[in-house]
Amino acid sequence: MTLLDKLFGVRCRLCGERGATRLGPVPVTHAGEFHVKEFTLLHCCHCDVVYLDPLPTSADLKLLYEDSEQFTDAHYTDPIQVEKILDYYSTALRNLKLLPGARVRLLEVGAGLAWVSRASKAVSPDTMTLAQDVSGECAKHCPWVDRYFVGTLDALPERGPYQLISLTHVIEHLADPVAMLRSLADLLTPDGKIFITAPFRPAEWNPAHGAAPWMNYSYLHVPAHISYFSRRWFEQSERLTGLKVIHWDSTHEDGQAFELVLGKI
Ligand SMILES: [Zn+2]
Repeated sequence: MTLLDKLFGVRCRLCGERGATRLGPVPVTHAGEFHVKEFTLLHCCHCDVVYLDPLPTSADLKLLYEDSEQFTDAHYTDPIQVEKILDYYSTALRNLKLLPGARVRLLEVGAGLAWVSRASKAVSPDTMTLAQDVSGECAKHCPWVDRYFVGTLDALPERGPYQLISLTHVIEHLADPVAMLRSLADLLTPDGKIFITAPFRPAEWNPAHGAAPWMNYSYLHVPAHISYFSRRWFEQSERLTGLKVIHWDSTHEDGQAFELVLGKI
C-alpha cells in the first residue's frame, strides 16, 4: 500500500476514484475448489459501493455458474415461496408500469428460472418473453419463456429492441457492470426500461460498522456476489452507461435489497 492509498484510500474498482477503504476480510461461503480463497470487502466513499477484492478469476466464475447446479434448493420450488416470489414481481410490474401496452418484448438476462417472464405472462399473457442465461440448467423448466437462449449476451441472436429488460439478482455477480449496462442500453427501445433487483447491504449498516454485520447477512455470497451497489453509483455512471435512474427503492427486505428502474438518457 502506498502513502497515497493510506491517506486517500485505494482507487475504487467501480468508479475509478481514490476513496476505497478496507472493511475487513470475509470467508468464502460457496463450496468449490476456487483458485482464490481470501477476500476482503472494500467500501468506496465516492460511489458508496461495497465490493469484493480481489475480483474472482474468470475460471472461478465459470465454476460458479456453468459447472454447478444453482436452483435445486426448496427456496425456488416450495409452492408458498413460489407464490410469494411471483406476487412480488407481478406487483412490481404493475406498480412500476413496466408492461406498457400489448405484446411487450421482454428480455430477461441471467434468467435462471425466469421469474419476471413468468410474472409478466401472468400480468399480461401476450408479453413476448426471451430469456438468456450462460447455464442451461433451467431452460427446460420454464414454459413461460417463449425462447430460452443459453449463451452469453453478446451471442444472443435476437438484438431487440426490447421494451423491458430485467436483471433480477444478476448485477451483483458481474465483473464489468458498466460494459453490461452499455450493451443493454443498445438493446432497449428509446422509451424502454431496465428493471433491476439486487442485494444492497445488511439492515441499518453504515461504513463505520465495518465488516462484522456482513457475516450474518444472508446475501454475503463469496465469491459469487462481487458488488453491492448504491444509487449514487448508478447516477455517477449515467454518462458511461447511457442510462438514467427512474426509480430507486432500497427499503426491500428491511433495507437488505434494492429495486431499480433505469431508462435511456
Ligand atoms: Zn467508487
